[in-house]
Amino acid sequence: MSLKIVVLAKQVPDTRNVGPDAMTEQGTINRAALPAVFNPEDLNALEQALRLKDQFPGSTISVVTMGLPKSAEVIREALYRGADEGFVVTDRVLGGADTLATSYTLAQAIKKVGNYDIILCGRQAIDGDTAQVGPQIAQKLGLTQVTYAEEILSLDESARKVVIRRLIDGGVETVEAPLPLVVTVNGSAAPCRPRNAKRVMKYKKATAVAERAPEQAEAYAALIAVKPFMDIPQWGAADIEADPNQIGKAGSPTNVKAVKNIVFKAKESRTLTASDADVEGLIKELLEEKIIG
Ligand SMILES: Cc1cc2nc3c(=O)[nH]c(=O)nc-3n(C[C@H](O)[C@H](O)[C@H](O)COP(=O)(O)OP(=O)(O)OC[C@H]3O[C@@H](n4cnc5c(N)ncnc54)[C@H](O)[C@@H]3O)c2cc1C
Repeated sequence: MSLKIVVLAKQVPDTRNVGPDAMTEQGTINRAALPAVFNPEDLNALEQALRLKDQFPGSTISVVTMGLPKSAEVIREALYRGADEGFVVTDRVLGGADTLATSYTLAQAIKKVGNYDIILCGRQAIDGDTAQVGPQIAQKLGLTQVTYAEEILSLDESARKVVIRRLIDGGVETVEAPLPLVVTVNGSAAPCRPRNAKRVMKYKKATAVAERAPEQAEAYAALIAVKPFMDIPQWGAADIEADPNQIGKAGSPTNVKAVKNIVFKAKESRTLTASDADVEGLIKELLEEKIIG
């Protein structure tokens, strides 16, 4: 038997290389200044999906991303590494979504993909950093969830069960869970395999309709008629039958008021030696400030 695997992948500003122009005057992320990258832990999730596909021939991997039209780049990247298809969920009305609205939108998109056996996503996105979306999607789809996964150890198709090693405070634990389920994958899991050169050649010109210039529409239509894989399906709110009150700003009780770039200045740091006096002094200070104890 083969598996239908869904992977969620987010295009994020590379907050690991925050330069002076990373923030706008209004205190929001200046996405134009930061290179857009594949969310790192989503690559770990993709690798777990690819390993299942290696193990269960005939399985398929469908990647779903929600974002601006340029997030189709994340789909191409996943296709280069072995995914079978991808969907870009993009629509102006989806803008400003908090995790509640994001998870609702992604859950609707996953329902449209349909018949899934396992949904894999990253533990956390490096921009919002909430780690809320995976568990919220499981709740919306009424599915079991296993978070902080490090490795899918085994999957029993007939018993419809999966065994997963996951990270917990101070160690790991091995859990068994029923299919279908949502699994959030940790950055300590195996890194994703590199792009496959042949697949890069095949998919590098694949696009979503919103990426194409209107005057190219005819040329693309002719190309896609011959090579359907050159079209990355694009879904708006109507395509995923989304309730307008549950998406974008309308569906978001949380608003990010401002994002501040915290840079510690020298005067705020002190160099301590390993002497008993220094260590005792530090512990005393931490106790007084109720940071420990
Ligand atoms: C600095 C900052 C702070 C924020 N704080 C909050 C907050 O406190 N509460 C709140 O509700 N919202 C918050 N947001 C908004 C939040 O980032 C967005 O709702 C976002 O789309 C989802 O949350 P996240 O980035 O934290 O994702 P996480 O929950 O960390 O993402 C976990 C996984 O879900 C999947 N996923 C998440 N988003 C997408 C997507 N668009 N496409 C495909 N897969 C996806 C990925 O696999 C990802 O690894 C914040 C945004 C910013 C930039």
